[in-house]
Amino acid sequence: MDFVEAHAAALFPICRPLLDWYAAAHRQLPWREAPTPYRVWVSEIMLQQTRVQAVIPYYERFLSLFPDVGALAEAPQDRLLKAWEGLGYYSRARNLQKAAQQICQRLGGRFPETYEGWLSLPGVGPYTAGAVCSIALGLPVPAVDGNVLRVFARLLALEEDIGAPAVKREMTRLAAAILPADRPGEFNQALMELGATVCLPGKTPLCGSCPLSGHCRAFSDQNQALFPLKSPKKPRKIQPITVFLLSYQGQFALIRRPDTGLLAGLWEFPHADGTLDAAQSAALLADWVRLAGPPDRLEPAVHIFTHLQWHMTGWKWDVGEVLPGCPFQWALPRQLQNQYPIPSAFSPFLFQCNCEK
Ligand code: SF4
Repeated sequence: MDFVEAHAAALFPICRPLLDWYAAAHRQLPWREAPTPYRVWVSEIMLQQTRVQAVIPYYERFLSLFPDVGALAEAPQDRLLKAWEGLGYYSRARNLQKAAQQICQRLGGRFPETYEGWLSLPGVGPYTAGAVCSIALGLPVPAVDGNVLRVFARLLALEEDIGAPAVKREMTRLAAAILPADRPGEFNQALMELGATVCLPGKTPLCGSCPLSGHCRAFSDQNQALFPLKSPKKPRKIQPITVFLLSYQGQFALIRRPDTGLLAGLWEFPHADGTLDAAQSAALLADWVRLAGPPDRLEPAVHIFTHLQWHMTGWKWDVGEVLPGCPFQWALPRQLQNQYPIPSAFSPFLFQCNCEK
């Protein structure tokens, strides 16, 4: 028997109580008011990897800066990345803009009307395409995110690794099989909402408040914390770096990251790999600036990316002279704050430039 046949019968009975619960208990969120394709799409991209409460102020500001797909397509890159500053995973913002440009250029500013059309856009995978199509267009397609995988894994006491792509695909087929064709958007949102607010990760699902407890195998076996099964993550690589905070006539040195790779296109303080002492750092900077006086040591900081940790130390120097060929951009404190998109990895150093972060 295939996966869907084996499990669909156990899940069909959740549909009604889940929809009733969602109608009564769902959170009021800005993207749920007037769920147009643009509003749902932007929210779903922001919500990838980021908590709802953190997204809300970014979402509202983003919509006021870029109220429609045309405004997003035409936005200067620094303005776009500045609006995203602090949300992380900046490739999401760049892909959002690339997709907006394709919608304007290829489709005359009209959003795709099919799942496949959405899936063809940069940065839009099966989950996002499913969410936009079901919520904004009413199409009967599933939207399976980590919340849904966790809920299904517990309901079914599933003994398979939900991180495996083949298992995700099967779970998506399963979600499609039980999806009520007349209320796909509500159903998908209800599953996600249950995972986000009741069937919480770790050892603390709120089973006493769950509308599905009567259909849940993990609950009936009292082993909810065993699910979902996941293979252990690889430990993050630790990368030491030394940051240089260089002050010249009230301005601070910045440099732009390459257009591809981690934090592509953002501005950052100059830095070097490794933990360098003051003499090693001064030697490295000697081709570009003449340093004035001894440096101050910066407070160390750690920044965690998905697969990587930066362990940052650094030095703050006054610069006496900028040498020809120096690649740095010099920015006033208010420009650091308002104009240049700077990754939050550097936030611990920004306050030392008289900037609040
Ligand atoms: Fe999750 Fe508990 Fe509800 Fe089962 S009963 S779906 S474990 S919250």
